[in-house]
Amino acid sequence: MTEPRPTMEKAPLLGMPLPDPEPTSGCPRCRYWARERTDARRADDGARVSDCNVHIRRHPH
Ligand SMILES: [Zn+2]
Repeated sequence: MTEPRPTMEKAPLLGMPLPDPEPTSGCPRCRYWARERTDARRADDGARVSDCNVHIRRHPH
């Protein structure tokens, strides 16, 4: 039995970072991630910054 190997192609790193999404005001979750993002940026942790941006961008309201 052979399982099909999923091809996990990595997306090329973007040269230009996307603009930061604005956290929805009044949403504690978005506020939390916005704060995490500020901390991450201060720590020069780009991976964490974009991670926080994803959370903010994908947060359903
Ligand atoms: Zn939110």
